[in-house]
Amino acid sequence: MTKRVLIITGNANDANELVNVLGTARDGPFCIEWVTLLSEALKRLLTGDIDVILVDLLLADSQGIETFDQLFAAVPHTPIMILSPMDNERLAWEAVQRGAQGHLSKGYFGSYLVPQSLGQIIQRKAVEETLFIEKNRAEITLNSISDAVIGTDMAGNIDYLNIAAEKMTGWSRDEARGLPISKVMHIINGETREIERNPVELVLLENKPMGLTAGTILIQHDGTEVSIEDSSAPIHDLGGQISGAVIVFHDITVAQEMALKMAYLAQHDFLTSLPNRVLLNDRIMQAISLAKRNDSHLAVLFLDLDNFKYINDSLGHETGDKLLQSVAQALSACVRSSDTVSRQGGDEFVILLTQDKNSEDASLTANKILTALAMSHSIAKHKLHVTTSIGISVYPADGQDAETLIKNADTAMYHAKEKGRNNYQFFSSSMNVRAVERQVIEANLRRALEQQEFVVHYQPKVNLNTNMITGAEALLRWIHPKWGMVLPGRFVPIAEACGLIVPIGNWVLREACEQTKLWKEVGLKIDSITVNISALEFRRNDFVDGVQTILHETGLEPDCLQLEITESVLMRDAESSTIILNQLKDMGVQLAVDDFGTGYSSLSYLRQFPIDVLKIDRSFVRDIDSSKDSSIIVSAVIAMGNSLKQRVVAEGVDSQIQLDFLKALQCEEGQGYFFSRPLAADQFAALLTTGIR
Ligand code: C2E
Ligand code: MG
Ligand code: MG
Repeated sequence: MTKRVLIITGNANDANELVNVLGTARDGPFCIEWVTLLSEALKRLLTGDIDVILVDLLLADSQGIETFDQLFAAVPHTPIMILSPMDNERLAWEAVQRGAQGHLSKGYFGSYLVPQSLGQIIQRKAVEETLFIEKNRAEITLNSISDAVIGTDMAGNIDYLNIAAEKMTGWSRDEARGLPISKVMHIINGETREIERNPVELVLLENKPMGLTAGTILIQHDGTEVSIEDSSAPIHDLGGQISGAVIVFHDITVAQEMALKMAYLAQHDFLTSLPNRVLLNDRIMQAISLAKRNDSHLAVLFLDLDNFKYINDSLGHETGDKLLQSVAQALSACVRSSDTVSRQGGDEFVILLTQDKNSEDASLTANKILTALAMSHSIAKHKLHVTTSIGISVYPADGQDAETLIKNADTAMYHAKEKGRNNYQFFSSSMNVRAVERQVIEANLRRALEQQEFVVHYQPKVNLNTNMITGAEALLRWIHPKWGMVLPGRFVPIAEACGLIVPIGNWVLREACEQTKLWKEVGLKIDSITVNISALEFRRNDFVDGVQTILHETGLEPDCLQLEITESVLMRDAESSTIILNQLKDMGVQLAVDDFGTGYSSLSYLRQFPIDVLKIDRSFVRDIDSSKDSSIIVSAVIAMGNSLKQRVVAEGVDSQIQLDFLKALQCEEGQGYFFSRPLAADQFAALLTTGIR
């Protein structure tokens, strides 16, 4: 490639000589320009592309070192050679000190060395340029990365710090330079808090890369501590000899916090912050191995809220979530800190009681929980009541591992539900048989509707004074192809638990309305038909509309339909119950409270509900002759019904004594085996014609 040479001299001989030697040189080709004045030269240099300058410092318009200084200021990166007289090289040396590349003595211009050294100078300058760019790039890179980088010499003294290292250590580059690395990078073991040897020292000693031990903490200049992670490596010179070391490290505090948070999230329930099933399993496993060693017991309590679904469906998920949080708090307050309350999901909680001396402990806690949960939870503007059913399994009797203990506690919980909810049951092996039965029933229930295995039976309600049939209660029967007739006590709770009660209940309602309409059309006298409504149906948003539709489609007058809802269902969320009851009332449907006396009614609510009928639970009627309490309750209910203008129907009347007692108290209506068992539709129609004798 052609090299451009600018000669600046007032001496034409010198110039010609140089042009000659360069023009014919083998190291060329050179393209030569010659000017005589500094001002001309400076002007020429403005347009660039000169590779080397040859200058005589004594010019017509500038004399001495001044000439060099001006040139150098104009083109600091272009190599400059001084043309100096042989007898006075002092000026040339001064220029070299200020940045000139060298000098040529006049009189030796003819030498072949001149073009050769010009070529070398140009080449060296180009290499320098590249090196400069590379160094610059490295510097910028090191200062832009977020990792801290510190370099040391062989003695472990710092010779380099990037910006991140300044920030991380709290030492500025100037403060740190020359100090031992251990002083600037003060590190300790996070656990033992002992000073840790800087890996750089080892790297220098062993001449191989090295990492920090996990859990290293860097103490910054101001005392702040940060967790770091690093790697360190030796630096080698051209000859491959170790000449120092470099350490690269970064702050892992955030990453560590993140990792901790992830671990927490993986083990806790997001809604209540209680341990989730993963952590619970872990804790049970630990507790089991401890119990094995100490020959002690532990208990697992499986809880399921009795009426959560209705609250969630009727008041919305937000309220449901708040209720779960409130329950979580209440549960935590019932146990010792060494116990674990966990949420399994939905409205299910599992509690692990450790150091359980005997099963008494578990019943104490279970009782405590039942009492604590029975108190109302104030959420938004609602006062909500929840109850829970608890199943208990005990180690070692009921299982040797976490899974079995939880499963058996779950089975016991179902048993508690069947026992009427709001109670606790210990697991017994016979329950597993029941659990299997439940599953079988559920599986069979699923096809019972489409296979038309259901029928409705009718039990008359009778006016106690006239013995006239006033109406009937529709009672569901399941005629299973193999098992024969199955009574609702065995399958309705299961249908409720799995939601099947909704389509089944809908079918009963339609069937009963259709049948009654038919009886009326053929002239049979029946005032009303009563249909049982389960909690799940009652709380559904589309329930009221569904009733309306069925009445419309079957053509039954609304006041011929009476809906029975149990007292406990109504009281669970009395405010929303009032709303639903009023909507039904507005349609003209009659409303009855079933199993009255078994729930915990608040009289103020009872007065506010638009109720037509109170049905005294049959347990009180049954005990009329034997228990004084029962007869007092029955009298009180009858009196109350009369004063609230509600009709009172006594359920389960099956003897003359009971009938006499009820009549004496002016109970208006009764229902029970004494008058008639529930009958198939055609039998009931026959009874309607003959009447009760
Ligand atoms: P319930 O609504 O309290 O119904 C009265 C229950 O008492 C009926 O039992 C009836 O056969 C029984 N009973 C009537 N008189 C006497 C008597 O003198 N002595 C005795 N010991 N019992 C008598 P059933 O038919 O087995 O129904 C049990 C429960 O199942 C009902 O209690 C009701 O809660 C529920 N159920 C029945 N049919 C349906 C339905 O279609 N839908 C819903 N959701 N639940 C239903
Ligand atoms: Mg009933
Ligand atoms: Mg009843």
